[in-house]
Amino acid sequence: MQSRPCWAEVDTRAIEDNFRFLSGLAAPHADLLAIVKANAYGHGLSLCAPAVTRAGARWLGVTSVEEGAATRALSSNAAILVISGVFPGQGAEVIRKALTPVVWEPWHLDELESAAHAAGLGPASLPVHLEIDTGMNRQGVLVDNLPQLLARFTPASPLRLEGVMTHLFAADEADGLATQDQLSQLTAALDQISRAGLTPQWLNVGNSAALLAGKSEDIAALSSRYKMRALIRPGLALYGIVPSYDPAFDAAEPPSLVQARQSLRPALTWKSQVVSVHSVPAGAVVGYNATFVATEPMRLALIAAGYADGLDRQLGNRFGTLVHGQCAPIVGRISMDQAVLDVTDISGVAPGDEVVLLGTQGSETISAFDHAEATGTIPWEVLTRIGVRVPRIEI
Ligand SMILES: *Cc1c(COP(=O)(O)O)cnc(C)c1O
Repeated sequence: MQSRPCWAEVDTRAIEDNFRFLSGLAAPHADLLAIVKANAYGHGLSLCAPAVTRAGARWLGVTSVEEGAATRALSSNAAILVISGVFPGQGAEVIRKALTPVVWEPWHLDELESAAHAAGLGPASLPVHLEIDTGMNRQGVLVDNLPQLLARFTPASPLRLEGVMTHLFAADEADGLATQDQLSQLTAALDQISRAGLTPQWLNVGNSAALLAGKSEDIAALSSRYKMRALIRPGLALYGIVPSYDPAFDAAEPPSLVQARQSLRPALTWKSQVVSVHSVPAGAVVGYNATFVATEPMRLALIAAGYADGLDRQLGNRFGTLVHGQCAPIVGRISMDQAVLDVTDISGVAPGDEVVLLGTQGSETISAFDHAEATGTIPWEVLTRIGVRVPRIEI
């Protein structure tokens, strides 16, 4: 039985190749943690976690304990970092699924310690990564408040400080000043940690923008000063998309960024099909509230994709899709489950013809950036909003 024709094809070989390319950028100084949160940026966790593991990933990053448990079912060996915290009552699941939580609040430590005691874990047997807030003011402990958290890592504690983490919030800015500030805050934290006699193994810093901008060397240099190993956390680049940078940056792109533009391949193509085609006379209106009026006799194609599939409603009357390798504009308002295309200038369009909403058809491409620019957002949001009812199919 054929299913409703709205699906995303995911090229897992592209993801494997992207991972290998990014590992090459990080090597030999740093390892990668492959970010597979939010259903692998909409690409399908069950396809992508195995793909990056095949390509050699030993660390996977997810947002929650729930995502961590789903990832553990797909990968028995990888270390799985839960980056956005544990919540009350989740400690037991962290232990059952052998997850590595990021912590920054005293109550995170309370939750994990009591779960560890209940599970009969011995000293230093539950690894955690401590996030330092180096200026983003999102999550993490401020350097000034570190002593009270470090005091919790006593020799008798079941917790082990395995990693120190921070998030660089402006690695895409050309002057690098924010990053410099952040790294100096991080250095102050590492000094304190080292004075406290703690010896974490991993320094866990930096996203795609940092890695492609060549920041992994700075991070690795800092790591080796404290006898740690650098861990870099790319997300978007794994899925084949180069984040945008400050225009000043583009003027003198570091070699890693130039190489990335040549090497990374977008992995996802979002498709639908023409359901029916009909002709309308000049003056006919299309869709809710008649926001489109045919100025001439036109041919219209109905497709099985709407805003409930993640096709942003703002794209109505202002975006194109690809049919027969040509641009077919979306006319009228996008409905929840359907949209209408103008195929007047594309000959021979018939029911069953493939429609590309995002990706390449023939020599034309619609990128996640194109979607993002049309709707005032970023590729991360475009990809993660592709709906749950759109099946992800490995190709
Ligand atoms: C999502 C996320 C990343 C990955 O960011 P990209 O810009 O997609 O590479 C890295 N670190 C943290 C903490 C994140 O939340």
